[in-house]
Amino acid sequence: MEHLSVAQAQQCIFQYANKLGIETVGLEQSLGRVLAMDVRANRDQPPYDVSAMDGYALRNADLAQIPATLVVIEDIKAGDMPVKTVGAGQCARIMTGAPVPQGADAVIRVEDTEIAPDDHVQINRTVKHGNDIRRLGENMRNGEVVLAAGTEITPGVIGILATVKCAQLQVYCRPRVAILSTGNELEGMDEPVDPNKIPDSNSYALMAQLQALGIAPAMLGIARDDPAELAEHLQRGLEFDVLLVSGGSSVGVHDYVRPTIEALGVQMKFWRVAMKPGHPLAFGVLQRSRDITSKAVEVDAVQGARNTATKAYLADRQGSEYRATQQCPTSTGLFFGLPGNPVSSMVCFEEFVAPALRRMMGHARLYRRTVQARLGHDVKHKPGRTEFVRVMLKNEQGSYLASSTGTQSSGVSLSMARADGLVVVPAESIGMTKGERVTVQLLDGTVFQDDVGFNE
Ligand code: AMP
Ligand code: MG
Repeated sequence: MEHLSVAQAQQCIFQYANKLGIETVGLEQSLGRVLAMDVRANRDQPPYDVSAMDGYALRNADLAQIPATLVVIEDIKAGDMPVKTVGAGQCARIMTGAPVPQGADAVIRVEDTEIAPDDHVQINRTVKHGNDIRRLGENMRNGEVVLAAGTEITPGVIGILATVKCAQLQVYCRPRVAILSTGNELEGMDEPVDPNKIPDSNSYALMAQLQALGIAPAMLGIARDDPAELAEHLQRGLEFDVLLVSGGSSVGVHDYVRPTIEALGVQMKFWRVAMKPGHPLAFGVLQRSRDITSKAVEVDAVQGARNTATKAYLADRQGSEYRATQQCPTSTGLFFGLPGNPVSSMVCFEEFVAPALRRMMGHARLYRRTVQARLGHDVKHKPGRTEFVRVMLKNEQGSYLASSTGTQSSGVSLSMARADGLVVVPAESIGMTKGERVTVQLLDGTVFQDDVGFNE
Protein backbone atom coordinates (compact mmCIF):
# COMPACT_ATOMS: atom_id res chain seq x y z
CA MET A 1 0.00 0.00 0.00
CA GLU A 2 1.45 3.37 -0.96
CA HIS A 3 1.67 6.40 1.29
CA LEU A 4 -1.25 8.80 1.08
CA SER A 5 -0.82 12.55 1.36
CA VAL A 6 -2.42 14.22 4.38
CA ALA A 7 -5.26 15.56 2.21
CA GLN A 8 -5.85 12.17 0.57
CA ALA A 9 -6.00 10.48 3.94
CA GLN A 10 -8.46 13.11 5.21
CA GLN A 11 -10.69 12.66 2.17
CA CYS A 12 -10.62 8.90 2.60
CA ILE A 13 -11.69 9.25 6.25
CA PHE A 14 -14.45 11.76 5.39
CA GLN A 15 -16.12 9.14 3.18
CA TYR A 16 -16.96 7.23 6.36
CA ALA A 17 -17.21 10.00 8.96
CA ASN A 18 -20.81 11.03 8.37
CA LYS A 19 -23.08 13.33 10.31
CA LEU A 20 -24.63 11.56 13.28
CA GLY A 21 -28.27 11.60 14.34
CA ILE A 22 -30.10 14.44 16.04
CA GLU A 23 -31.00 14.85 19.68
CA THR A 24 -32.83 17.47 21.70
CA VAL A 25 -30.93 19.35 24.38
CA GLY A 26 -31.76 22.21 26.72
CA LEU A 27 -30.33 25.63 25.94
CA GLU A 28 -28.16 25.47 29.07
CA GLN A 29 -26.40 22.33 27.77
CA SER A 30 -25.96 23.42 24.19
CA LEU A 31 -22.70 25.40 24.14
CA GLY A 32 -20.36 24.04 21.45
CA ARG A 33 -23.00 21.87 19.80
CA VAL A 34 -24.19 22.32 16.21
CA LEU A 35 -27.77 23.26 15.38
CA ALA A 36 -29.62 20.61 13.42
CA MET A 37 -32.57 22.90 12.68
CA ASP A 38 -33.22 26.35 11.30
CA VAL A 39 -34.22 28.75 14.06
CA ARG A 40 -36.74 31.50 13.26
CA ALA A 41 -37.64 34.66 15.10
CA ASN A 42 -40.89 34.24 17.03
CA ARG A 43 -41.74 37.97 16.94
CA ASP A 44 -40.40 41.26 15.71
CA GLN A 45 -37.43 42.47 17.73
CA PRO A 46 -37.77 45.13 18.91
CA PRO A 47 -41.55 44.70 18.89
CA TYR A 48 -42.10 48.43 18.35
CA ASP A 49 -39.96 51.54 17.83
CA VAL A 50 -37.96 51.96 21.04
CA SER A 51 -35.62 54.52 22.44
CA ALA A 52 -31.87 53.81 22.20
CA MET A 53 -31.11 56.31 24.98
CA ASP A 54 -32.29 57.66 28.28
CA GLY A 55 -33.64 61.07 27.25
CA TYR A 56 -36.71 62.73 25.73
CA ALA A 57 -38.94 61.66 22.86
CA LEU A 58 -39.88 64.74 20.89
CA ARG A 59 -40.78 66.18 17.51
CA ASN A 60 -37.88 67.23 15.37
CA ALA A 61 -40.01 70.13 14.06
CA ASP A 62 -39.93 71.66 17.57
CA LEU A 63 -36.14 72.09 17.42
CA ALA A 64 -36.01 74.83 14.79
CA GLN A 65 -34.77 77.22 17.50
CA ILE A 66 -32.12 76.00 19.97
CA PRO A 67 -32.33 76.03 22.93
CA ALA A 68 -35.98 74.98 22.85
CA THR A 69 -38.18 74.55 25.89
CA LEU A 70 -40.75 71.73 25.82
CA VAL A 71 -43.32 70.52 28.30
CA VAL A 72 -42.84 66.98 29.61
CA ILE A 73 -46.21 65.25 29.35
CA GLU A 74 -45.32 61.70 30.36
CA ASP A 75 -42.62 59.55 31.90
CA ILE A 76 -42.09 56.28 29.97
CA LYS A 77 -40.00 53.59 31.64
CA ALA A 78 -38.74 50.44 29.94
CA GLY A 79 -41.62 47.98 30.12
CA ASP A 80 -44.30 50.76 30.12
CA MET A 81 -46.58 51.49 27.20
CA PRO A 82 -47.04 55.23 26.51
CA VAL A 83 -50.57 56.54 26.88
CA LYS A 84 -50.25 60.06 25.52
CA THR A 85 -49.49 61.48 22.08
CA VAL A 86 -46.68 64.00 21.84
CA GLY A 87 -47.99 67.22 20.30
CA ALA A 88 -46.37 70.51 19.28
CA GLY A 89 -44.18 71.90 22.06
CA GLN A 90 -44.35 68.64 24.01
CA CYS A 91 -42.08 65.73 24.79
CA ALA A 92 -42.00 62.58 26.95
CA ARG A 93 -39.22 61.51 29.29
CA ILE A 94 -38.13 58.10 28.02
CA MET A 95 -35.76 55.34 29.14
CA THR A 96 -33.63 53.08 26.96
CA GLY A 97 -35.73 50.29 25.50
CA ALA A 98 -39.07 52.00 26.19
CA PRO A 99 -41.56 52.42 23.31
CA VAL A 100 -41.45 55.75 21.48
CA PRO A 101 -44.84 57.47 21.94
CA GLN A 102 -47.18 58.49 19.14
CA GLY A 103 -46.34 61.87 17.70
CA ALA A 104 -42.63 61.75 18.57
CA ASP A 105 -40.16 61.25 15.72
CA ALA A 106 -36.80 61.51 17.50
CA VAL A 107 -35.12 60.96 20.84
CA ILE A 108 -32.55 63.26 22.38
CA ARG A 109 -30.25 61.96 25.05
CA VAL A 110 -30.51 63.41 28.54
CA GLU A 111 -26.95 64.79 28.38
CA ASP A 112 -28.10 67.32 25.74
CA THR A 113 -30.91 68.68 27.92
CA GLU A 114 -31.48 70.61 31.15
CA ILE A 115 -34.41 70.38 33.50
CA ALA A 116 -36.53 73.55 33.51
CA PRO A 117 -39.21 74.61 36.03
CA ASP A 118 -42.82 73.35 36.01
CA ASP A 119 -42.31 70.05 34.20
CA HIS A 120 -40.40 71.63 31.35
CA VAL A 121 -37.10 70.63 29.79
CA GLN A 122 -34.64 72.71 27.83
CA ILE A 123 -33.25 71.07 24.69
CA ASN A 124 -29.74 72.32 23.90
CA ARG A 125 -29.08 70.60 20.62
CA THR A 126 -30.97 69.77 17.49
CA VAL A 127 -31.35 66.15 16.37
CA LYS A 128 -32.42 64.63 13.08
CA HIS A 129 -35.68 62.88 12.41
CA GLY A 130 -35.37 59.29 13.72
CA ASN A 131 -32.44 60.09 16.02
CA ASP A 132 -31.76 57.37 18.63
CA ILE A 133 -34.83 55.37 17.74
CA ARG A 134 -34.40 51.62 17.23
CA ARG A 135 -36.94 50.67 14.63
CA LEU A 136 -39.47 47.87 14.96
CA GLY A 137 -37.88 44.63 13.68
CA GLU A 138 -34.44 46.19 13.32
CA ASN A 139 -32.81 43.23 15.13
CA MET A 140 -35.02 40.51 13.64
CA ARG A 141 -38.35 40.14 11.85
CA ASN A 142 -40.98 37.66 12.94
CA GLY A 143 -40.57 34.38 11.00
CA GLU A 144 -37.15 35.22 9.64
CA VAL A 145 -34.47 32.45 9.86
CA VAL A 146 -32.00 33.93 12.34
CA LEU A 147 -29.80 30.86 12.74
CA ALA A 148 -29.41 28.24 10.02
CA ALA A 149 -28.92 24.53 10.63
CA GLY A 150 -25.18 23.88 10.85
CA THR A 151 -24.50 26.89 13.07
CA GLU A 152 -22.07 26.21 15.90
CA ILE A 153 -23.51 27.27 19.23
CA THR A 154 -21.32 30.01 20.71
CA PRO A 155 -22.26 32.37 23.56
CA GLY A 156 -23.51 34.89 20.98
CA VAL A 157 -25.71 32.22 19.40
CA ILE A 158 -27.06 31.27 22.82
CA GLY A 159 -28.09 34.90 23.25
CA ILE A 160 -30.08 34.72 20.01
CA LEU A 161 -31.64 31.38 20.98
CA ALA A 162 -32.75 32.94 24.26
CA THR A 163 -34.11 35.97 22.38
CA VAL A 164 -36.37 33.73 20.31
CA LYS A 165 -37.28 31.68 23.42
CA CYS A 166 -35.74 28.47 22.14
CA ALA A 167 -35.36 26.57 25.42
CA GLN A 168 -35.01 23.15 23.76
CA LEU A 169 -33.14 22.67 20.54
CA GLN A 170 -32.17 19.99 18.10
CA VAL A 171 -28.45 19.45 17.71
CA TYR A 172 -26.29 16.80 16.12
CA CYS A 173 -25.26 13.98 18.42
CA ARG A 174 -21.70 13.63 19.60
CA PRO A 175 -19.87 10.43 18.74
CA ARG A 176 -19.08 7.99 21.49
CA VAL A 177 -15.37 7.52 21.47
CA ALA A 178 -13.17 4.97 23.24
CA ILE A 179 -9.44 5.22 23.85
CA LEU A 180 -7.14 2.23 24.18
CA SER A 181 -3.38 2.28 24.70
CA THR A 182 -1.26 -0.71 23.76
CA GLY A 183 2.20 -1.85 24.79
CA ASN A 184 3.86 -4.15 27.34
CA GLU A 185 6.05 -1.23 28.39
CA LEU A 186 3.15 0.95 29.52
CA GLU A 187 2.38 1.80 33.11
CA GLY A 188 -1.15 2.84 34.03
CA MET A 189 -1.96 5.89 36.16
CA ASP A 190 -2.97 3.76 39.14
CA GLU A 191 0.05 1.43 38.94
CA PRO A 192 3.19 2.01 41.04
CA VAL A 193 6.11 3.78 39.37
CA ASP A 194 8.42 1.26 37.72
CA PRO A 195 11.68 2.67 36.26
CA ASN A 196 11.54 0.14 33.44
CA LYS A 197 8.14 1.24 32.25
CA ILE A 198 6.75 4.14 30.29
CA PRO A 199 3.78 5.99 31.73
CA ASP A 200 0.70 5.84 29.52
CA SER A 201 0.38 9.49 28.63
CA ASN A 202 -1.34 9.01 25.30
CA SER A 203 -4.65 7.94 26.83
CA TYR A 204 -4.81 11.19 28.76
CA ALA A 205 -3.57 13.52 26.02
CA LEU A 206 -6.13 11.98 23.66
CA MET A 207 -8.79 12.25 26.34
CA ALA A 208 -8.06 15.97 26.62
CA GLN A 209 -8.04 16.47 22.86
CA LEU A 210 -11.49 14.87 22.77
CA GLN A 211 -12.70 16.96 25.69
CA ALA A 212 -11.57 20.08 23.85
CA LEU A 213 -13.96 19.01 21.08
CA GLY A 214 -16.76 18.52 23.60
CA ILE A 215 -16.53 14.74 23.72
CA ALA A 216 -16.14 12.78 26.97
CA PRO A 217 -14.40 9.55 25.99
CA ALA A 218 -14.44 6.12 27.55
CA MET A 219 -10.97 5.18 28.77
CA LEU A 220 -10.41 1.51 28.06
CA GLY A 221 -6.96 1.44 29.66
CA ILE A 222 -3.96 -0.52 28.45
CA ALA A 223 -3.77 -3.72 26.42
CA ARG A 224 -0.55 -5.75 26.43
CA ASP A 225 1.10 -6.76 23.17
CA ASP A 226 -0.63 -10.10 23.23
CA PRO A 227 -3.05 -11.05 20.46
CA ALA A 228 -5.65 -12.56 22.78
CA GLU A 229 -5.63 -9.72 25.30
CA LEU A 230 -5.59 -7.18 22.51
CA ALA A 231 -8.54 -8.86 20.76
CA GLU A 232 -10.58 -8.67 23.94
CA HIS A 233 -9.91 -4.97 24.40
CA LEU A 234 -10.39 -4.14 20.74
CA GLN A 235 -13.69 -5.98 20.68
CA ARG A 236 -14.93 -3.80 23.52
CA GLY A 237 -13.63 -0.69 21.78
CA LEU A 238 -15.40 -1.57 18.56
CA GLU A 239 -18.75 -1.17 20.24
CA PHE A 240 -18.18 2.58 20.20
CA ASP A 241 -18.72 4.89 17.25
CA VAL A 242 -15.02 5.64 17.11
CA LEU A 243 -12.11 3.71 18.57
CA LEU A 244 -8.71 5.33 19.02
CA VAL A 245 -5.86 2.93 19.64
CA SER A 246 -2.38 4.25 20.28
CA GLY A 247 0.70 2.19 19.58
CA GLY A 248 1.10 -1.20 18.04
CA SER A 249 0.10 -0.27 14.50
CA SER A 250 3.62 -0.16 13.11
CA VAL A 251 5.63 -2.89 11.44
CA GLY A 252 7.35 -4.30 14.54
CA VAL A 253 6.93 -8.04 15.12
CA HIS A 254 4.86 -7.29 18.24
CA ASP A 255 2.63 -4.76 16.52
CA TYR A 256 -0.50 -6.87 16.55
CA VAL A 257 -3.13 -4.18 16.36
CA ARG A 258 -3.74 -4.21 12.61
CA PRO A 259 -4.00 -7.99 12.10
CA THR A 260 -6.06 -8.39 15.27
CA ILE A 261 -8.55 -5.70 14.43
CA GLU A 262 -8.85 -6.94 10.85
CA ALA A 263 -9.71 -10.35 12.27
CA LEU A 264 -12.50 -8.62 14.20
CA GLY A 265 -14.04 -7.39 10.95
CA VAL A 266 -12.44 -3.99 10.50
CA GLN A 267 -11.64 -3.20 6.90
CA MET A 268 -8.32 -1.35 6.77
CA LYS A 269 -8.46 1.62 4.39
CA PHE A 270 -4.89 2.82 4.77
CA TRP A 271 -2.08 2.64 7.25
CA ARG A 272 0.60 4.90 5.89
CA VAL A 273 0.51 8.66 5.45
CA ALA A 274 3.41 10.68 4.07
CA MET A 275 3.76 12.94 7.08
CA LYS A 276 6.10 13.65 9.93
CA PRO A 277 5.54 13.11 12.76
CA GLY A 278 2.79 10.64 12.29
CA HIS A 279 3.26 7.78 9.99
CA PRO A 280 2.23 5.01 10.47
CA LEU A 281 -1.39 5.98 10.94
CA ALA A 282 -3.94 3.23 10.37
CA PHE A 283 -7.56 3.87 9.50
CA GLY A 284 -10.28 1.30 9.12
CA VAL A 285 -14.03 0.92 9.22
CA LEU A 286 -16.36 -1.61 10.75
CA GLN A 287 -19.67 -2.11 8.96
CA ARG A 288 -22.14 -3.21 11.62
CA SER A 289 -25.34 -5.04 11.11
CA ARG A 290 -26.49 -5.68 14.65
CA ASP A 291 -27.94 -3.07 16.94
CA ILE A 292 -26.52 -2.49 20.37
CA THR A 293 -28.22 -0.13 22.73
CA SER A 294 -26.24 2.76 24.05
CA LYS A 295 -26.77 1.57 27.58
CA ALA A 296 -25.13 -1.78 26.92
CA VAL A 297 -22.13 0.00 25.50
CA GLU A 298 -21.85 2.27 28.49
CA VAL A 299 -21.99 -0.61 30.95
CA ASP A 300 -19.28 -2.32 28.99
CA ALA A 301 -17.13 0.78 29.09
CA VAL A 302 -17.50 1.03 32.83
CA GLN A 303 -16.40 -2.55 33.28
CA GLY A 304 -13.54 -2.03 30.87
CA ALA A 305 -12.20 1.07 32.53
CA ARG A 306 -9.13 0.32 34.63
CA ASN A 307 -8.96 3.46 36.59
CA THR A 308 -11.50 3.92 39.39
CA ALA A 309 -12.01 7.62 38.67
CA THR A 310 -12.85 6.78 35.07
CA LYS A 311 -15.20 4.04 36.21
CA ALA A 312 -17.05 6.40 38.49
CA TYR A 313 -17.21 9.02 35.78
CA LEU A 314 -18.59 6.63 33.20
CA ALA A 315 -21.07 5.15 35.65
CA ASP A 316 -22.28 8.62 36.48
CA ARG A 317 -22.84 9.44 32.85
CA GLN A 318 -24.88 6.36 32.13
CA GLY A 319 -27.90 7.75 33.86
CA SER A 320 -27.86 11.16 32.30
CA GLU A 321 -26.44 12.41 29.10
CA TYR A 322 -26.17 9.32 26.98
CA ARG A 323 -29.53 7.75 27.49
CA ALA A 324 -31.03 10.43 25.31
CA THR A 325 -28.59 10.18 22.43
CA GLN A 326 -29.03 8.57 19.06
CA GLN A 327 -29.00 4.90 18.52
CA CYS A 328 -25.44 3.90 19.19
CA PRO A 329 -23.20 2.74 17.89
CA THR A 330 -23.42 4.04 14.36
CA SER A 331 -23.69 1.59 11.50
CA THR A 332 -20.12 2.39 10.45
CA GLY A 333 -17.57 2.23 13.23
CA LEU A 334 -14.32 4.08 12.72
CA PHE A 335 -10.96 2.79 13.87
CA PHE A 336 -7.87 4.96 14.13
CA GLY A 337 -4.57 3.24 14.85
CA LEU A 338 -2.47 6.16 16.08
CA PRO A 339 1.31 6.01 16.42
CA GLY A 340 2.58 5.27 19.91
CA ASN A 341 4.93 8.23 20.08
CA PRO A 342 3.18 10.86 22.17
CA VAL A 343 3.75 13.72 19.73
CA SER A 344 2.79 11.64 16.70
CA SER A 345 -0.36 10.47 18.41
CA MET A 346 -1.40 14.04 19.17
CA VAL A 347 -0.51 15.39 15.72
CA CYS A 348 -2.42 12.56 14.01
CA PHE A 349 -5.38 13.32 16.21
CA GLU A 350 -5.26 16.97 15.14
CA GLU A 351 -4.92 16.25 11.43
CA PHE A 352 -7.29 13.30 11.04
CA VAL A 353 -9.36 12.41 14.08
CA ALA A 354 -10.51 15.93 15.00
CA PRO A 355 -11.77 16.85 11.50
CA ALA A 356 -13.58 13.50 11.26
CA LEU A 357 -15.24 13.93 14.65
CA ARG A 358 -16.23 17.51 13.87
CA ARG A 359 -17.78 16.32 10.61
CA MET A 360 -19.79 13.71 12.54
CA MET A 361 -20.99 16.41 14.94
CA GLY A 362 -22.31 18.51 12.05
CA HIS A 363 -19.66 21.22 12.02
CA ALA A 364 -18.96 23.09 8.81
CA ARG A 365 -15.54 24.20 10.05
CA LEU A 366 -13.51 21.02 10.23
CA TYR A 367 -9.95 22.26 10.30
CA ARG A 368 -7.71 24.13 12.67
CA ARG A 369 -7.52 27.85 11.90
CA THR A 370 -4.35 28.69 9.99
CA VAL A 371 -2.45 31.96 10.16
CA GLN A 372 0.59 33.26 8.34
CA ALA A 373 3.78 33.73 10.31
CA ARG A 374 7.45 34.53 9.73
CA LEU A 375 9.91 31.82 10.61
CA GLY A 376 12.29 32.74 13.41
CA HIS A 377 14.97 30.34 12.11
CA ASP A 378 15.79 27.93 9.30
CA VAL A 379 13.92 24.62 9.13
CA LYS A 380 15.64 21.66 7.49
CA HIS A 381 13.46 19.37 5.43
CA LYS A 382 14.00 16.38 3.19
CA PRO A 383 11.42 16.22 0.38
CA GLY A 384 8.85 13.43 0.65
CA ARG A 385 6.68 13.92 3.70
CA THR A 386 4.55 16.81 4.94
CA GLU A 387 6.06 17.93 8.20
CA PHE A 388 4.35 19.55 11.17
CA VAL A 389 6.82 21.58 13.21
CA ARG A 390 5.83 22.51 16.76
CA VAL A 391 6.24 26.24 17.28
CA MET A 392 5.58 29.02 19.71
CA LEU A 393 4.06 32.18 18.27
CA LYS A 394 4.94 35.72 19.22
CA ASN A 395 2.93 38.76 18.19
CA GLU A 396 5.15 41.09 16.25
CA GLN A 397 3.59 44.35 15.09
CA GLY A 398 0.52 42.78 13.61
CA SER A 399 2.11 39.56 12.42
CA TYR A 400 3.38 36.38 14.02
CA LEU A 401 6.88 35.13 14.57
CA ALA A 402 7.09 31.33 14.74
CA SER A 403 9.93 29.66 16.64
CA SER A 404 10.49 25.98 17.24
CA THR A 405 9.59 24.68 20.70
CA GLY A 406 12.83 22.71 20.75
CA THR A 407 13.87 19.32 19.53
CA GLN A 408 11.34 17.97 17.07
CA SER A 409 11.85 14.31 17.94
CA SER A 410 8.42 12.71 18.13
CA GLY A 411 9.30 11.29 21.55
CA VAL A 412 9.79 14.70 23.13
CA SER A 413 6.34 15.47 24.38
CA LEU A 414 7.30 18.74 26.10
CA SER A 415 7.79 20.24 22.65
CA MET A 416 4.11 19.57 22.05
CA ALA A 417 3.07 20.86 25.45
CA ARG A 418 4.76 24.19 24.71
CA ALA A 419 3.40 24.54 21.19
CA ASP A 420 1.00 27.27 20.12
CA GLY A 421 0.82 25.82 16.65
CA LEU A 422 2.19 23.61 13.93
CA VAL A 423 4.12 25.05 11.01
CA VAL A 424 3.21 23.07 7.92
CA VAL A 425 6.25 22.24 5.81
CA PRO A 426 4.98 21.09 2.39
CA ALA A 427 6.08 17.59 1.35
CA GLU A 428 8.22 18.79 -1.54
CA SER A 429 9.97 21.59 0.37
CA ILE A 430 13.75 21.45 0.39
CA GLY A 431 13.83 23.40 3.63
CA MET A 432 12.72 26.80 4.83
CA THR A 433 14.76 29.81 5.76
CA LYS A 434 14.61 32.32 8.57
CA GLY A 435 12.17 35.11 7.78
CA GLU A 436 10.19 33.04 5.29
CA ARG A 437 6.38 33.26 5.42
CA VAL A 438 4.85 30.02 6.58
CA THR A 439 1.41 28.63 7.37
CA VAL A 440 0.73 27.76 11.00
CA GLN A 441 -2.16 25.71 12.33
CA LEU A 442 -3.23 27.11 15.69
CA LEU A 443 -3.60 24.67 18.57
CA ASP A 444 -5.75 24.85 21.71
CA GLY A 445 -4.85 27.63 24.09
CA THR A 446 -4.12 30.24 21.42
CA VAL A 447 -7.32 32.25 21.53
CA PHE A 448 -5.93 34.31 24.42
CA GLN A 449 -2.72 36.31 24.62
CA ASP A 450 -0.54 38.05 27.23
CA ASP A 451 -1.11 41.67 26.25
CA VAL A 452 -4.24 43.51 25.23
CA GLY A 453 -2.90 43.77 21.67
CA PHE A 454 -4.58 47.00 20.49
CA ASN A 455 -4.28 50.75 20.83
CA GLU A 456 -7.29 52.86 21.72
P1 AMP B 1 4.64 1.84 19.05
O1 AMP B 1 3.86 2.65 18.06
O2 AMP B 1 3.79 0.88 19.81
O3 AMP B 1 5.82 1.18 18.39
O4 AMP B 1 5.21 2.85 20.12
C1 AMP B 1 6.19 3.81 19.77
C2 AMP B 1 6.72 4.49 21.00
O5 AMP B 1 5.70 5.20 21.65
C3 AMP B 1 7.32 3.58 22.05
O6 AMP B 1 8.53 4.13 22.50
C4 AMP B 1 6.33 3.57 23.15
O7 AMP B 1 6.91 3.40 24.39
C5 AMP B 1 5.68 4.93 23.04
N1 AMP B 1 4.28 4.78 23.48
C6 AMP B 1 3.42 3.88 23.00
N2 AMP B 1 2.22 4.01 23.61
C7 AMP B 1 2.35 5.01 24.50
C8 AMP B 1 1.46 5.60 25.44
N3 AMP B 1 0.20 5.17 25.59
N4 AMP B 1 1.92 6.63 26.19
C9 AMP B 1 3.20 7.07 26.05
N5 AMP B 1 4.06 6.54 25.18
C10 AMP B 1 3.67 5.52 24.41
MG1 MG C 1 4.09 -0.68 21.05
